[in-house]
Amino acid sequence: MSNVQHQYLDALGITRWVIRAPAVNPIIETSALIEPAVETKAGGAALMHSAAARGLNKTSAPQKKPALVSRDLSAFDWTALRENIAQCGLCDLSNSRKQTVFGVGNQQADWLVVGEAPGPDEDAQGEPFVNRINGQLLDAMLLAIGLPRAQVYMTNSLKCKPPNNRDAKADEAACCKPYLLQQINLLQPKIILAIGRIPAQQLLQTDTPLERLRGQVHTLSEFGIPVIATYHPDHLLRKPIAKRKAWDDLKLALSVYKQAQ
Ligand code: URA
Repeated sequence: MSNVQHQYLDALGITRWVIRAPAVNPIIETSALIEPAVETKAGGAALMHSAAARGLNKTSAPQKKPALVSRDLSAFDWTALRENIAQCGLCDLSNSRKQTVFGVGNQQADWLVVGEAPGPDEDAQGEPFVNRINGQLLDAMLLAIGLPRAQVYMTNSLKCKPPNNRDAKADEAACCKPYLLQQINLLQPKIILAIGRIPAQQLLQTDTPLERLRGQVHTLSEFGIPVIATYHPDHLLRKPIAKRKAWDDLKLALSVYKQAQ
């Protein structure tokens, strides 16, 4: 284990963690993290939908509250989806965001990591989990199971920052869910790690508390992909005692992933 990995584990407070997993994908260049021009596993033609036609343009007349029906985004490729999300005005979060936070990483990844929502740093930089504290802790968690950040795809349940760091509301998560589902459709990951209550409940369509969702293997009904839920790094920072359970979740995820190979 390298010194850097030791530092990550130290930051996580579990110095005895041993990285047992070999790298599961080739590490990609950092420069390729910003929307690399690669074929997606799912492929699919780019079909640009006009934001105006879809009533998504922020600058147009006041938006009607969205009907919470699923929108068919299945023809959208990565670029079309990103552009569509960037213009989204489906909920009030569009009024306070600096920018949408689409997602980042390896578009061929086997692992999809889904966080809750952008915070101020992510809102400013347009990338998930760039905060020096919770982002680095998440990196440490992933690295502990042999996953450098560049090897996963990372996004959030919500693509816009909620004001004052509040939790996502159910209707906001519902507005964003079709975006997340199409990201999953394009990526076709082998496993999804839900980081925190919001993505776990959003993906699994439940209001069961995280405490009861973690520690088990769930299935994303739309795609039949295994989902493991675990604690958000913010929770682990508040309650370091939960790191042991988070480590159990990560080990579970790794074993499920190995079985899915
Ligand atoms: N917390 C999250 O859940 N996601 C981010 O991108 C940043 C903080």
